[in-house]
Amino acid sequence: MLRFGGIEAGGTKFVCAVGTGPGDLETAEFPTSTPDNTLGPVVQFFAARQPIQALGIGSFGPIDPHPSSPTFGYITDTPKLAWRGFDFAGTLRRALHVEVAFDTDVNAAALAEFRWGAARGLGTFLYVTVGTGLGGGAMVGGHLLHGRMHPEMGHIHIPHDLARDPFPGNCPFHADCLEGLAAGPAIQARWGLAPHLLPDTHPAWELEADYLALGIVNWTYTLAPELVILGGGILRREELLFLVRKKTANLLNGYLDAPRIVRPALGERAGVLGAIALAAELASTLEAGFAS
Ligand code: ZN
Repeated sequence: MLRFGGIEAGGTKFVCAVGTGPGDLETAEFPTSTPDNTLGPVVQFFAARQPIQALGIGSFGPIDPHPSSPTFGYITDTPKLAWRGFDFAGTLRRALHVEVAFDTDVNAAALAEFRWGAARGLGTFLYVTVGTGLGGGAMVGGHLLHGRMHPEMGHIHIPHDLARDPFPGNCPFHADCLEGLAAGPAIQARWGLAPHLLPDTHPAWELEADYLALGIVNWTYTLAPELVILGGGILRREELLFLVRKKTANLLNGYLDAPRIVRPALGERAGVLGAIALAAELASTLEAGFAS
């Protein structure tokens, strides 16, 4: 059977895989540094496992995900300077001689949960990750959501009560947007301890749940998701998930039913499986094109 390649490109590591789905993945991880240093071993990994039918990339961003754009497959205005303006998809297309599908890491993870995980059979749902950053992908009406670029759900502005939470926020662009208040680095900066060292009873988690619930109600009113999947390291804490569900329902206040809020069924493999799913979709589109 023909296999696909997938890359989950994150800020700290690249997860690479070859396979067709959750049952047959062969994976490897490489640390993220400069494009040259990172992509050398990545290309070797795939070159040693050819043939692959197509390659999918779920990338940190911002990115250009539009196939008709002259800068399709580029990383755009990232704070990671070595990657800014880098032709990510094109470099791999030329090195491996395969067609490349390219989307955000969170859109890719959403697609994997749709094919194999918690969102099977759903047309409209969100995949949100809370870790070193905070971002969301969305499937709306059966399609991954793209527009002028792609959603940047982590950068919405939410109420910030400075009397309760004097931490000014640490987003380099907006200070106290949702990511600047609620991603892992914000938790660490506010409380002076890494999030995994804070006990369940620490006030950090009530505050965190309030911020995440504010995000979820805003996305819920805007996109009407049937399901919200919460991934990323911060959400591994069971207690936090319970608090988020409760506070989301409280904020909606009976005006709408709260969407179901769950963890990714595919766990930490959602991202790289999403990249495989992007490749599989591209391959079937190309096949249909050849057949017609
Ligand atoms: Zn921001």
